[in-house]
Amino acid sequence: MRNLDIFNESKKYMPGGVNSPVRAYKDVDVTPPIIKKGKGAYIYDEEGNKYIDFVCAWGPMILGHCDDDVVKAIQNTAAESIAFGASTEIELKLAKHICSTVDSVEMIRMVNSGTEATMSVVKLARGYTKKNKMIKFAGCYHGHAGGFLVEAGSGVLTEGIPGSAGVPKESIVNTLIANYNDIQSVKVLFEKYSDDIACVIIEPVAGNMGVIPAEKEFLLELRKICDKYNSLLIFDEVMSGFRVAYKGAQSIYGIYPDLITYAKIMGGGLPCGAYGGKKEIMEMLSPMGPVYQAGTMSGNPVVMAAGYASLTKLYNNPSVYENMEKLSQKLQKGLLEIAKEKGIPMVVNRCGSMITAFFTKKREVRNFEDAKTCDAKLFAKYFEHMIKSGINIAPSQFEAIFLCTKHTDEDIESFLEAFRSFEL
Ligand SMILES: *Cc1c(COP(=O)(O)O)cnc(C)c1O
Repeated sequence: MRNLDIFNESKKYMPGGVNSPVRAYKDVDVTPPIIKKGKGAYIYDEEGNKYIDFVCAWGPMILGHCDDDVVKAIQNTAAESIAFGASTEIELKLAKHICSTVDSVEMIRMVNSGTEATMSVVKLARGYTKKNKMIKFAGCYHGHAGGFLVEAGSGVLTEGIPGSAGVPKESIVNTLIANYNDIQSVKVLFEKYSDDIACVIIEPVAGNMGVIPAEKEFLLELRKICDKYNSLLIFDEVMSGFRVAYKGAQSIYGIYPDLITYAKIMGGGLPCGAYGGKKEIMEMLSPMGPVYQAGTMSGNPVVMAAGYASLTKLYNNPSVYENMEKLSQKLQKGLLEIAKEKGIPMVVNRCGSMITAFFTKKREVRNFEDAKTCDAKLFAKYFEHMIKSGINIAPSQFEAIFLCTKHTDEDIESFLEAFRSFEL
């Protein structure tokens, strides 16, 4: 069947034809390719079209598609253990590997998605501090749990409005919104609710409003203010963990959170998530402590095996990060040069192998307000041109371009060549 036929038929059985909204390509008005298979940096749709993939499953496939070692780990494990709902040695191996190779994680709890990790970690922070409120930043995404789906409306910092139907106002009264890279907006909230802020959660390298790295000074101040008010600092490294560096964004800044969340890369492409941090805090979790959190599928052996194969491969080959850095530098530089030649106003933000080309007249993009100045129509046109040229990028201005370890110099050149042939 053709992409369009499959997509149309899917719409009869799944809302919008998809299981996650962004896959419907609604903002760009293009029929989504229906993907049949992938190998390395390339994916192929049902019509046999080949794409160089810069989505990489929204980050997880850092080793490229169907990496031989990951496939082998999945096959070998699945041959004798798929699910028991009981303890296995492979979950210990992955937990021990993460705790001993990244900072700030003394203990870890495995879950099944990034959403589950963030909703659980905030419950833990509340249980530990015995406080109620959480500060999040406008433009940061922490999964689809109700309490996170709040946007800052027109400079109203303290009173959020739900960003989704089905989220009662009562369930977001404890969500406070501050502005990214703006410590003053955080201070105001701490002064107002000084004894009731359980935690501040942040993507230390934001990836969900396009790539916007936090400024170091801002994160330092955030660390200080959390300490001052006995609130916990949570880094949501679901996207940046094992991506911007093996040890994540925290290692780049040298600023360490009390709790951290992972997902995406850590599951090797299978559904996975985790949260971890100081032992004293993690031991508040049931069965040791009073904070209840459970999961039938948590620590699933096949998932753990895929995660373990991926993380150990990355850890044992640190040069892959240097290579991706070189390629992403080349892509950033090339994008800016071509945009300049064409007279397209553009800001290109980058951290490691995460890049966003913002179609904006602004000189820099430091927060959600800046990101929202982008020309969505121009992006849509660019997107359509790129995908027709065989370059698979996310169908949204507010997402990252991801590299994987299988991308080559030629793949970057193909990307730039496609952009060069884009006619306004
Ligand atoms: C993707 C993402 C999530 C949500 O993870 P899911 O596995 O999609 O539920 C949470 N936080 C950040 C920073 C993410 O990038």
